[in-house]
Amino acid sequence: MNFADSEVVASIMAEVGVETTNDEMEADIIFINTCSIRDNAEQKIRNRLKHLRHNKKQNKELTIGVLGCMAERLKKQLLEEEKLVDIVAGPDAYKELPVLLREVEDGHKAINVMLSLEETYAEIQPTRLNSNGVTAFISITRGCDNMCSFCVVPFTRGRERSRNPESIVAEAQDLVNKGYKEVTLLGQNVDSYLWYGGGARKDFDKLTADEQKSSISFANLLEMVAQVDPSLRVRFSTSHPKDIHDEVLYVMRKYDNVAKHIHLPAQSGNTRILEKMNRTYTREWYEMKYNRIKEILPECSVSCDIITGFCSETEEEHKDTLDLLRKCEYEFSYMYFYSERPGTLAARKYEDDVPEEVKKRRLTEVIEIQHEIAIKRNAAQVGKVHTVLIEMQSKKNANEWMGRNSQNIKVIFPKGNFKMGDYVDVKIERSTTTSLIGVAVL
Ligand code: SAH
Ligand code: SF4
Repeated sequence: MNFADSEVVASIMAEVGVETTNDEMEADIIFINTCSIRDNAEQKIRNRLKHLRHNKKQNKELTIGVLGCMAERLKKQLLEEEKLVDIVAGPDAYKELPVLLREVEDGHKAINVMLSLEETYAEIQPTRLNSNGVTAFISITRGCDNMCSFCVVPFTRGRERSRNPESIVAEAQDLVNKGYKEVTLLGQNVDSYLWYGGGARKDFDKLTADEQKSSISFANLLEMVAQVDPSLRVRFSTSHPKDIHDEVLYVMRKYDNVAKHIHLPAQSGNTRILEKMNRTYTREWYEMKYNRIKEILPECSVSCDIITGFCSETEEEHKDTLDLLRKCEYEFSYMYFYSERPGTLAARKYEDDVPEEVKKRRLTEVIEIQHEIAIKRNAAQVGKVHTVLIEMQSKKNANEWMGRNSQNIKVIFPKGNFKMGDYVDVKIERSTTTSLIGVAVL
């Protein structure tokens, strides 16, 4: 999401004649787009800022801006704590960056952390950064209206709003015209996408009958993007289990070019913890959703996010998470130990009482199980043929391509006469935890 936002920022800056460079010593302005989701994400930024002292010494005119969630969370405090920072801009203030830069030129520090109910940057054509020319992100919603008790996102990214579908389809079409072959529709909770002509999102049942009739749901939007071009593979992320409906699954089934992969974060396998996390579903509901996906789309892969050691989690409750992992056999998971975020519901209401070593040990157990599952799942693909979209040269071998199958698993195979952006049928010969290795079927 930050990557997509940086592309919006690059486009806004290009409008005022500022170009991007890959050489940071050459830069006159350095913007760091930040994440606040866990404490270590913020620590990384603090370290990064320490390194930038060197840049500032070399170039006294260098302007340093901190953008995104950490800017939003810390606001003025960031300017006080990190003396070399000149600009602090929240996720809804990117259009103001040229103005903020002028303030810095006039010798002031500059800050804008206003959140918006409307801003979606719909009309901005992102400048693709370090692009492979094959895959690209398209933001479809901003912010989040869920209040998961552990999560800082609603505070740093503001209220959920959906982007005008015409601008999304136009962006997809533009990418096709430029030769791109895959788009990923991005939002914190893509399935709650809702456009009814008025901009900011409202609950469906609060719309008038007319608005309901003409509104566009995520299933409608997915279909619109799928229809842009049959050779454009369409992905989306993230799906909140409470909001993914059968209609979305039917659209996925109807269109070959909609990738068969759903990122469906569970966070925990225990109902009491889920309730405390305010995820609004139970373990049983989650499994029901999972089963429904597999029923309608048997070949669909499902991936997950897990948090270990959330407030008051017992050993038994942790075991429920391990059990969920074994049951669902996710293709892959993003796994973390709980990191208390200031200002969140959990920070205010619950004690962060699971000792760090226990959180980490539980995380290791989760990772080990996920690892075993991935090995087993990938090994089961040996002998099968997968359609792979070539994304880049393999990092390990210049004679091999790396691409992904529809299920979002990496596939490596000899280059032959293929090129980036080709769809190739690859027969899998062996596998590792993270990838499938094979040869093209001619
Ligand atoms: N909107 C997505 C998640 C976005 S944040 C969703 O609801 O699924 C990405 C992931 O970071 C979350 O799924 C969660 O697993 C993790 N995360 C969020 N807050 C966290 C915290 N305080 N500590 C540890 N992990 C956290
Ligand atoms: Fe955070 Fe929950 Fe929103 Fe995801 S759905 S961004 S975890 S509040």
